[in-house]
Amino acid sequence: MGSPGAGKGTLAVELAARGVEHLSTGDLFRAEIERKTPLGGRIKTALDRGELAPDELTLGLMRKWFWGRPAGRGFVLDGFPRTLIQARCFDEWLEARNEVLSACVFLELGEEATVKRLSGRRICPWDGRVYHIEHRPPAIEETCDDCGGSLVRREDDAETVVRRRYRLYLKKSRPVAKYYRDQGLLRFYDADRRPAEIVSDLLSAYQPTPTIS
Ligand SMILES: [Zn+2]
Repeated sequence: MGSPGAGKGTLAVELAARGVEHLSTGDLFRAEIERKTPLGGRIKTALDRGELAPDELTLGLMRKWFWGRPAGRGFVLDGFPRTLIQARCFDEWLEARNEVLSACVFLELGEEATVKRLSGRRICPWDGRVYHIEHRPPAIEETCDDCGGSLVRREDDAETVVRRRYRLYLKKSRPVAKYYRDQGLLRFYDADRRPAEIVSDLLSAYQPTPTIS
């Protein structure tokens, strides 16, 4: 878990590199939208409105993934569960297969830091490369290193939108965080820590079994 820009994706990729399967609901949704399935159409409508994908659609996609994988193999989920209903449902699936979660990782980033991170973000519309005017600037200002295209700022990275997304995230994620806290699974990390550091901390605490050979 973590607010927009906290680095959930980066952390998940870093974990996946150690041999744990990585699944991002954002990627699942995008794939479904690109395949132009009826489900994808409904997800797109919700996301375009700035809403979360409805529970039944998210659960439908996740159920397919969950029951299609071999039991007992480790994984890291990015973007799921986002609501209490999803979290409860997920627990039922896990229980049915005698699997348990090791941790719910929450990346903490304050509102001002979030604004700074996201409003400095620039994207190449041609190849999707992501830059940051402070942390990862292109060689030539506002120009993609790879293709020379002009960089753009995503509309939802504008400051007022970032603040709205941030507050919405905190409000919506609170019940889910509480749900995992009550189970003793919630672990907070400062989002400013390097992902590799967080990963080694997590791995030493949980020693998950590598799953991908
Ligand atoms: Zn480019």
